[in-house]
Amino acid sequence: METRQCCIAGGGPAGLMLGYLLARAGVQVTVLEKHADFLRDFRGDTIHPSTLNILADLGLLERFLALPHQEVSELTGEVYGEVVTMADFRHLPAARPFLVLVPQWDFLDFIADEARKLPTFTLRLGAKVVDVLQEAGRVTGVQVQEGERSYAIGAALVVGADGRHTTVREAAGLPSVDTGAPIDVLWFRLPRSASDPARTGGIIQPGAMLVTLNRESYWQCAFVIPKGSLADLQAQGLAAFRERVAGTAPFLRDAVGTLHGWDDIKLLSVQISHLPHWWREGLLCIGDAAHAMSPVGGVGINLAIQDAVAAANLLAAPLRAGRLTSAHLQAVQRRRAWPARVTQRVQVAVQNEVLSPVLARSQQPSGVPLPVTLMQRLPLLRRLTARMIGIGVRPERVLHPDGEPARLQDRPTRM
Ligand SMILES: Cc1cc2nc3c(=O)[nH]c(=O)nc-3n(C[C@H](O)[C@H](O)[C@H](O)COP(=O)(O)OP(=O)(O)OC[C@H]3O[C@@H](n4cnc5c(N)ncnc54)[C@H](O)[C@@H]3O)c2cc1C
Repeated sequence: METRQCCIAGGGPAGLMLGYLLARAGVQVTVLEKHADFLRDFRGDTIHPSTLNILADLGLLERFLALPHQEVSELTGEVYGEVVTMADFRHLPAARPFLVLVPQWDFLDFIADEARKLPTFTLRLGAKVVDVLQEAGRVTGVQVQEGERSYAIGAALVVGADGRHTTVREAAGLPSVDTGAPIDVLWFRLPRSASDPARTGGIIQPGAMLVTLNRESYWQCAFVIPKGSLADLQAQGLAAFRERVAGTAPFLRDAVGTLHGWDDIKLLSVQISHLPHWWREGLLCIGDAAHAMSPVGGVGINLAIQDAVAAANLLAAPLRAGRLTSAHLQAVQRRRAWPARVTQRVQVAVQNEVLSPVLARSQQPSGVPLPVTLMQRLPLLRRLTARMIGIGVRPERVLHPDGEPARLQDRPTRM
């Protein structure tokens, strides 16, 4: 049986970044991704300043920023007809104080290409982890299905970075606690015309919230609906749905005609959950597999990457030396569970106190809500929101395999 020092299930942001960092530290690592490529459309597209800091640590920032992308210095939204600035990133202590919008497949291809340059890194696409191998209560590897071929890989450490519908967590029997979420998202594309506004942002109207991501030739749209209400929408018919979208964002009135059927519209089920225990002997879960994030704030990718950085900082040396113990895995959970839970609590508050009331409202209110007015009047509040979204709680930096900071070049300067 093939054996590796580390075997990672899932080539999403968490799995690929961890694979890259471990290989960079000389650990033999294989990443198994069940899809044949990264070209899937139902992924978030935001790379936040915290992740740009990490790319700067790795000396990859300039090359990353050479990819086609957009830089967003402030987040604006339209709330009941008024344009409001929600977050101002310009003052963040970051290598680049802006949010980068880049299709997630470009980001994943970029990390995968960098990782492939490292001799101890292997990426297998189209390779699905179907089970974990266990011996005397310890996880010792994974069972993989690749096309017609079924094979096992032994590993000192198996990492479940296989997202919210994780097979690894299930197979290892780690229980998950579901917090629930009152919303789902409908995800679809509409053509973008030259006269459309340029900005990426959210539009809130009574009973509706629409996020439009500017991808130059088209809009990637996310329409927020109450959880489980898609069947009701479908019963009202596609024409009624098109009218709701056009009523929320009038500049899309012509474009909605390109929605020809419900097959053009994907349902993304929103879930918030966490594992009380991220690890077992020989196994660790990170990213959405350990804490499924809501899309609120668009912070899930960045938290997944922060988990990967913390895991690499704590595990690379013991993995390389063949002296990994459960105490090392416990240390990863101790470091990352708190930021994940704090962020989820903020997401729950926004879902319950902002999004659900908006979706339940049928009439135009007399004015904009108080938090929005405060946001307009108090620049500090806009900076705080930017800090929460852009940097988050307990940000990580890449350490040298021997524990020193990775590079000094491009380090952030403080305000
Ligand atoms: C509607 C919606 C919109 C969102 N928008 C944003 C946003 O704009 N910005 C943001 O930061 N976050 C966003 N998020 C959250 C974000 O998508 C996740 O938090 C983030 O992708 C988690 O990264 P991950 O690597 O842990 O998992 P994932 O991105 O889910 O990656 C897991 C990978 O594992 C693979 N995999 C699964 N099972 C197996 C298996 N058995 N074997 C091998 N491979 C497997 C999958 O194919 C996938 O590639 C959004 C979430 C939702 C629901």
